[in-house]
This record gives sequence, C-alpha cells and structure tokens, in this order.
Amino acid sequence: MPPSCLIRDHDITALSAFHTPAKARYYFEILDQSALEHLREIYEFSIHEHLPIIFIARGTNFLFAFDVFPGIIIRFDIRGYTLDGWILTVQAWELVSLTSQKIYTEHKNSHLIPWVWLPGTWGGAIAGNAGWFGLEAKDFLLDVAIYDMARWTHETWTREQCLFAYRTSKLKAQSQRLILSARFDLGAIVENPYMEMSLAEFMSVRREKQPAGHTCGSFFKNPPWESAGRLIDAVGLKWTRIGWAKISEVHANFFMNDEHGTFQDILALRDLAKKTIQESYKITLEEEVRIISVK
Ligand SMILES: Cc1cc2nc3c(=O)[nH]c(=O)nc-3n(C[C@H](O)[C@H](O)[C@H](O)COP(=O)(O)OP(=O)(O)OC[C@H]3O[C@@H](n4cnc5c(N)ncnc54)[C@H](O)[C@@H]3O)c2cc1C
Repeated sequence: MPPSCLIRDHDITALSAFHTPAKARYYFEILDQSALEHLREIYEFSIHEHLPIIFIARGTNFLFAFDVFPGIIIRFDIRGYTLDGWILTVQAWELVSLTSQKIYTEHKNSHLIPWVWLPGTWGGAIAGNAGWFGLEAKDFLLDVAIYDMARWTHETWTREQCLFAYRTSKLKAQSQRLILSARFDLGAIVENPYMEMSLAEFMSVRREKQPAGHTCGSFFKNPPWESAGRLIDAVGLKWTRIGWAKISEVHANFFMNDEHGTFQDILALRDLAKKTIQESYKITLEEEVRIISVK
C-alpha cells in the first residue's frame, strides 16, 4: 500500500518551466519541516515497489519527456534566509532572484546583483552549480545541509564533497539526498562590473540577452571555449519551429514552448540542433537541461 501522504495521478505540467503536459503516478509536496518525517516511508515504499524518485524545486532546469512518470515526484516549498555579516544562510527552496534583490535593497549589499534574475531556488542552483554573469554557486558556497533518505541521516557537506563541475555536482541527478539549506560567504564573491549597476540597468542587460516565455534557459552546455548559442545561430537554426516549439530568435540556445508544445517537439528540436552541429563542426553538444525519460 502506498503511504497515505502520497497523491496519486497528479498533474505536474506546471512544475517544469517548459510546461509540456505531464502527470506523476505519485506526488508529495513538502510545505513545512513536519512533512520531512514522511520521507522515510516514501523512500522505503519506492525501494519496495522499484519506483524512481525525482526531487523538483522550481523546475527551471527540467524537461519531462513522458506522459506519466511511473514513480514519485517530491516537491518542496520551504523558504527563508538570514544574512549575518557576509554569511548568507538560505533554505533550499528560497528563490535565488528574490533573495538577491532583497540583499541589495534591504541590506545594501550589491554582491549578488549578477544573480538577481537567475530563475529557480538555491537548492537547484547548488545541485546544478548554476552560473550567471561570471558567478557560479561553487564560488561562494561554504557548506550544505542534507537529509539522506536512504540512511535517515542529517549531514553537512563541504563545497569539496559536492564535487562541483560545469553546471553539475554530485547532488544534481540523484534521488537520495535532499538539500535542505546552505551557507554562502558573500565576501568570497570576486568584484565584477555588474556590482556597480543599479537593478534597472542590470535588468535591461538581462532583457536584451534572454527571451521570456516557457523555457528552461540554455538547453545545451557550452562546449569548451565555445558558445552553444553561437554555434546554433551560425548554422541558421534560430527561429526554427517544430510543432509548437521553436528555437528562440533572441538566444539560439533557448528552446521555447509556444503554449501547446509537447516534449516530442522539444526533443525533435534538440535532435536537429545536435545533428547539425555534429555535422558542421564535429562537436557533440551535451544537454544542460535535465531530461527525464521513461522507457
Ligand atoms: C529563463 C531562464 C534562464 C536561465 N539561465 C540560466 C543561467 O544563466 N545559468 C544557469 O546556470 N542556469 C540557468 N537557468 C536554469 C535554472 O535557472 C537553473 O538550473 C536553476 O538553478 C534551477 O533551479 P530550480 O529550483 O528550478 O531547480 P529544478 O529545475 O527544480 O532542479 C534542478 C536540479 O536540481 C535538483 N534539485 C533541486 N532542488 C534540490 C534539493 N533541494 N535537493 C536535491 N536536489 C535538488 C533537481 O533534482 C534537479 O536535478 C535558466 C533557466 C531559465 C528558465
């Protein structure tokens, strides 16, 4: 019997920033600390029934490549942050953009200006080592508080234990360790030109570079010393449309769902871009977006 806290056949379309239609066989939402108590029984149920688990925060880095996920989606929404001198402590589900704005407007500290428009949560930014305008999570993270569902332990991981690399870490595509909170040292952020900008100036830089809509931002990682967007633009794929999905005319590494797009439309765009770049430049593009497929 599934634990009674699990919701069956839940519509998760809105949980991915692509908004392609999708459902989950089981769904669990953590809205306060007491909900964490259910994780042990959920994990045991998943092992017993051989069900995959996915942690999802704001879904700004996910493509659901299925109609129904045959497992358990765990979503969380506990927020909050404190700033003590230079030390920022965040709940994993606090929004990066909101914290960064408040640190500027309420605490008069401009070090997080480059992250004012970074979509998603602090947990997502740590798991994927998010980077925006030259600043990556690994550059100023001190440590991460984690709940290990398999071992029922609370642990504190150092930056080194997270094994950060370009847009990934040991915490990204796994379903056992939940990031609960983290500490960052704002004093470790290296001076950069964006710190001198007002919020309005920074917003206009950002608007110029990125389109708005149903997208997960950069679809591919940049190859070494190259820009995936520049390559896709150079082979003439900007504006390319398949079904209801298209490659943005503003930024060629942004794939957009124009309201009714399906995951098949987006995967077809992905395949086209990969094949064309492979043939033209002998470069294999690697996905930055986490694609969840079902066999
Ligand atoms: C318009 C747009 C622009 C973007 N530009 C950039 C950019 O410039 N640079 C960049 O790096 N990214 C960019 N992104 C991608 C996205 O903002 C980041 O990947 C973001 O950090 C994801 O956060 P999230 O809360 O949405 O995580 P989700 O997409 O929900 O999850 C991402 C990964 O983190 C894991 N995860 C999330 N929270 C936890 C947790 N608490 N515990 C364990 N695992 C967890 C998930 O399982 C998943 O593997 C952009 C996205 C959009 C929509």
